[in-house]
Amino acid sequence: MDLTEPQRAVRDAVLAELEGSFGGELITEDSTGYDQARTLWNAVIDKRPALIARCTNTEDVVAVVNAARVHDALLSVRGGGHGVVGKALADDGVTLDLGLMNGVTVDTERKLVHVQGGCRLGDVDAATSEHGLAVPAGIVADTGVGGLTLGGGAGWLSRKYGLTSDNVVSFEAVTASGDVLEVSATEHPDLIWALHGGGGNFGVVTRFTFRAYAFGPDVRFGAALYTADTAAVALRAYADIYPTLPYEVGWHVTMKQSMPPLPFVPDELVGKRLVMIFCLWAADVDDAEGTETIKRLVGTGDPVVNTVAAIPFGLGLQRFLDAEYSDGLRNYTNEAHLTELSDDVIEALLDFWEVELAGPESSIGGEPTIYGLGGAVQDVPEAATAFSHSESVWWVNYACHWKDARDDERNMAAIRSSCRDLTPWLGAGIYVNMLNVDELDRVVEAYGGPETYARLGVVKAKYDPGNLFRVNHNIVPSTA
Ligand code: FAD
Repeated sequence: MDLTEPQRAVRDAVLAELEGSFGGELITEDSTGYDQARTLWNAVIDKRPALIARCTNTEDVVAVVNAARVHDALLSVRGGGHGVVGKALADDGVTLDLGLMNGVTVDTERKLVHVQGGCRLGDVDAATSEHGLAVPAGIVADTGVGGLTLGGGAGWLSRKYGLTSDNVVSFEAVTASGDVLEVSATEHPDLIWALHGGGGNFGVVTRFTFRAYAFGPDVRFGAALYTADTAAVALRAYADIYPTLPYEVGWHVTMKQSMPPLPFVPDELVGKRLVMIFCLWAADVDDAEGTETIKRLVGTGDPVVNTVAAIPFGLGLQRFLDAEYSDGLRNYTNEAHLTELSDDVIEALLDFWEVELAGPESSIGGEPTIYGLGGAVQDVPEAATAFSHSESVWWVNYACHWKDARDDERNMAAIRSSCRDLTPWLGAGIYVNMLNVDELDRVVEAYGGPETYARLGVVKAKYDPGNLFRVNHNIVPSTA
């Protein structure tokens, strides 16, 4: 890394400020472990921060924030490092890494879960499932709680309990001035509104306190697999059934280019191109209505395999997909909110599914996933939080990954092109947590459009007037 003289001076000044009092690790390019510390989930991102400060507690976070502000360093904040655009790091900047702050405390009496800012979803599931509780979150255990929650957070339990952000009761946040704020509905209500969807723009969240629900440990789960011949008919049937489903049903469909060896997949189907439907009953595992509903859903159409089982939620289902989304692969995602799951949309998605991505020997996954939301997500009034477009029921996410950099261009072009094909059915908005590097002109839209963005800008001006937290999908401070 070739730091310019001014960049080196800033780094050294921050280091000098921290050395002695900082309780965590300070990593520069001369340190053993520098390359590991700068590795993100998406291997397409290759950034070289001047300094990585791995914090152990809130005091460490305050120290890094103060040093970065005083010395005008380019500051990035790393949660789980799963953001596809790699905003967790900044070239030549200072990275405040929360990865060592991964403690979870469960208050079983009040059903509250206190989660440090650097936790992964798996840390929360492990702690809560021990007590028969769950916090609604995403579907891959390694995803960071920080980025996911601050941008919204959708997963298996969203239809029943709302987004992850809807379930935050309070935050501890370190603002740009280095103040440690307890943020709740009564303390700093403007900030709690903004932290529910406004991303990492307002400070470093060192603790999330979530509402948890009595759940599991087992859940009623179903899966069905369809071949190319039967997928379209099944998807049409699901599109008809979906609006009639109770809030307890969590549902999504993934168009697998290469079926992974999941527990219910017979050996002869591993590696095959199949459409996979997952559904679960977000209530008592032995509920008769739940078992019947899941059975009926996975019996839809003519699946080549279908199964209904009681499986552990936090330590089972929540980890099903981890191996497929492991670190170090080259990833590109596009997201779209669709207004309908009509025959034409299904056809467009299946067309992409049939495309062979570049480099068959290295191309290991290229799959649009359709998430069915609605339910409790829609019940939160739009103005109540900064999260926008909660009315959107169908979210399509192209989450494609491969190993070889030479395949980047062609695969990314194929994904973009397929997403463009969906234009006639695009609804308003885009999920800020899926916004990609080539969609940065959509930041205002991702934050709900000009009005919500302007309101966020006012909160930003109050808590971060100098835009210290700008390595993110940025909200510019505004007095409007
Ligand atoms: P990072 O890259 O570390 O951070 C992302 C942004 O958040 C950065 O700007 C960072 O500065 C900021 N940030 C992170 N933590 C904090 C904090 N404590 N305080 C202040 N700012 C912070 N989303 C869903 O809704 N549901 C899913 O099921 C889901 N599954 C996913 C599966 C995979 C494999 C991946 C890669 C992503 C998935 N996502 C999902 C998207 C996910 O919500 C985003 O990628 C999110 O940004 C990840 O957060 P992170 O902390 O891991 O990322």
